[in-house]
Amino acid sequence: MKPSVLVVNCGSSSIKYALISAEPNQPRLAGLAERLGSSNARLKGVDSQGRAFEQALTDTDHTRALEAILDRLEGRLPDAVGHRIVHGGERFTRAALIDDDVAAAIEETAALAPLHNPANLQGVAATRQLFPDLPQVAVFDTAFHQTLPPRAYRYALPEALYRDHGIRRYGFHGTSHAYVSERADTLSSLVGGGWLTAHLGNGCSTAAIWEGKSLDTSMGLTPLEGLMMGTRSGDVDPSLHAHLSRQLGWSLERIDDVLNRGSGLLGLSGLTNDMRELEDAAGEGHEGARLAIEVFCYRIAKSLAALSCALPRLDGIVFTGGIGENSPLVREKVVAHLPHFTLGLDRAANARTVRGREDRIDGRHPAAPRLWVIPTDEEGRIAAETRQLLEENNA
Ligand code: AMP
Repeated sequence: MKPSVLVVNCGSSSIKYALISAEPNQPRLAGLAERLGSSNARLKGVDSQGRAFEQALTDTDHTRALEAILDRLEGRLPDAVGHRIVHGGERFTRAALIDDDVAAAIEETAALAPLHNPANLQGVAATRQLFPDLPQVAVFDTAFHQTLPPRAYRYALPEALYRDHGIRRYGFHGTSHAYVSERADTLSSLVGGGWLTAHLGNGCSTAAIWEGKSLDTSMGLTPLEGLMMGTRSGDVDPSLHAHLSRQLGWSLERIDDVLNRGSGLLGLSGLTNDMRELEDAAGEGHEGARLAIEVFCYRIAKSLAALSCALPRLDGIVFTGGIGENSPLVREKVVAHLPHFTLGLDRAANARTVRGREDRIDGRHPAAPRLWVIPTDEEGRIAAETRQLLEENNA
């Protein structure tokens, strides 16, 4: 029997989990423990009947929260744990079985992802404590992009910064870009097509994928580079930090905070980072909301056009993530900014493809690139990579 995998995505105050069986028709048990470490920590999720539950968690650290999650697995114990790890640096080009050496390497990479890797490691420590005999696998957000050629991953900076400090572009959202591009191949009956993928959620990134390999992507050393996002600025003039420091006396911490948490859709609209609310507000004439949506869509199109340079042939564009899967308005605006791609949007198909629907939204002209909406499945991909690694190790 193929192993069932508990997928764990651990943040500093949250644990997202999903128990995924390889057997068909077994429902996923999934949920989220949040606000850990605070007095109003909660665990929410769905049971095997699809019923939602919510419970308060008291006095809760990551290990206690995982114990509460275990109680919600209805007696179905996992055979392995798959961890989402944000940064794998250059060492990890694919998933890895976690031992002390791998855990130490993830810790070393924390300098490149100080907000994420230490939190991910807390999850590893807690699950190792709880399930000492189960294999634990690290699946890295950066690994899929390790196929980028140097012309795409190097910054035009002094060589020593790369050689001695690992300063280069890494890219993120790898499991999502990998999953949707593979799915686009399958749905289009292509073997390794040329895809531009747009993961548009609270975090946003694009990627250029050819024959199943990532050739370029919009995020860089950190997940701040590239597209405008929910609260992240994306690309700004590299001199902005110096300018804000000299002219306004802002500290590095303040600049970092504004660019990561006070910018993007939230900062530009002055209203919210939630695209649904922005679309409603723009409809009612809110200027800030309108501008935020305009800049957001234009920058996505600009990024897709730039990344098309990486592809020998463009077979299509794939939209995914909360916004990519649910906003016909954003998809239409992005496509409208790319007239030279001769895309041809089917407006009716675009309008009806929301809420988890997977569909093709172009006019199906044989010479035109395809437009796909494909709901992402990062947890499913992490479970699949975990299984694959275990199978190889047992072979
Ligand atoms: P994610 O990070 O992938 O969960 O995506 C979150 C983003 O998706 C938020 O900006 C939401 O407002 C957006 N989103 C979810 N549903 C819709 C919808 N029906 N229309 C527009 N945006 C949506």
